[in-house]
Amino acid sequence: MYSFIPEKIYYEKNVEDYELGKQLFEKYKDVPKIQIESHNNILEMRQKSNIDFVKMKKSLIIGTRKSLKYVPNKKTSDFLVPYTSSGCTAMCLYCYLVCNYNKYSYLRLFVNREQMMEKLLKTANTFDRELVFEIGSNSDLVLENTITSNLEWTINEFSKSKNGYITLPTKFDMVDNILNLDHKGRTIIRVSVNPEYIIKHVEIGTSKLEGRIRAINDLVEAGYRVGVLVAPIIMLDNWKQLYHELLEKLYDGLSEKAKKIIFFEIIFMSYSYVQNAINSEAFPNAIQIYSKELMRGTGRGKYYYKNKYLDEGKEYIVENLREFFPHNIIEYIV
Ligand code: SF4
Repeated sequence: MYSFIPEKIYYEKNVEDYELGKQLFEKYKDVPKIQIESHNNILEMRQKSNIDFVKMKKSLIIGTRKSLKYVPNKKTSDFLVPYTSSGCTAMCLYCYLVCNYNKYSYLRLFVNREQMMEKLLKTANTFDRELVFEIGSNSDLVLENTITSNLEWTINEFSKSKNGYITLPTKFDMVDNILNLDHKGRTIIRVSVNPEYIIKHVEIGTSKLEGRIRAINDLVEAGYRVGVLVAPIIMLDNWKQLYHELLEKLYDGLSEKAKKIIFFEIIFMSYSYVQNAINSEAFPNAIQIYSKELMRGTGRGKYYYKNKYLDEGKEYIVENLREFFPHNIIEYIV
């Protein structure tokens, strides 16, 4: 059972006014705590360098979320919703949150969940069509749930909605506590998968492939709508073999019921100058995921696979996916 005990907690001064704040203080009563003005500006953290990245991830920040502004989205949801956490305790070498938060991508928990849910329900029920809200674009809510039980609370609360769906991606397998909830079909969970070699060497601190496959089967059995994110695809030297084996493992490990209903999303990796700088200092012995030959820079510090390789890659993945899953929907491939 996954259990995160932070080395230090930084907290904003009003968090104990909230029920969840009180619970977290009780749960971590023996952990040293430092009061801060704002979770966005922690002096002690600002003084750290890239080499401290792993240590910084062992801290927990507790505050309230001030901005609840939704961002329109065109992939699998209508809106990206700022929700109960940002950052994560894991350390995927490509983590997209590092682009937004730099080395400050440690786990932040926001205790004003009632306020966030109120807006979510109100927005869902204002529209006369079924909107999809992505609530997990800033963190991993399955991981967060092991600390706060927020996902259980969220699924229960949102099941009361007359309209709309919530959706979230995850790289973790700790789904047992959400299996028996009466979700009313309003929650969509997308489990991200990668070859075991990549999970071990790149997705540091996340769940193993076997556990994720089990989680997919259990979620399907529990009546959730479930997607599989093959993401991000990293074009290592032997990537074709790795991803072929991954799809084969999925085919062998998924239940018949899961194979019938899962949909796919496929994302090739992007990378950035900031991630490269942090990884080279914090993980000097890690495998190299940036490729000068295969990638191109955009001028804003972002790297993408060159079109030629990306097009070939997409073709290869779709072909392989069709071999094992000929009838499942591919929502998008980017
Ligand atoms: S699990 Fe997700 S949020 Fe956490 S480090 Fe990996 S990519 Fe980032």
